Amino acid sequence: MADTHQSDEKLTALEVACDTEVSGCVFRMRTEVDNRDRLLEITRDHVSEQHGTEYSLEEINDRHVTEVEV
Ligand SMILES: [Zn+2]
Repeated sequence: MADTHQSDEKLTALEVACDTEVSGCVFRMRTEVDNRDRLLEITRDHVSEQHGTEYSLEEINDRHVTEVEV
């Protein structure tokens, strides 16, 4: 059986948390760095549908996405 141990490097993930002024929203997502575009789109849809606020993908990326070590 192959032992595919390949994680000497630190792994990084992206995390986004809903940060609107609406209290009580617990929307939070974490994904792989490769899925940045999808994360942004899901977050945009969430904010639009749940809070009626339109953010551009760029705004979400700049303000709401943080890189975290996993
Ligand atoms: Zn929210």
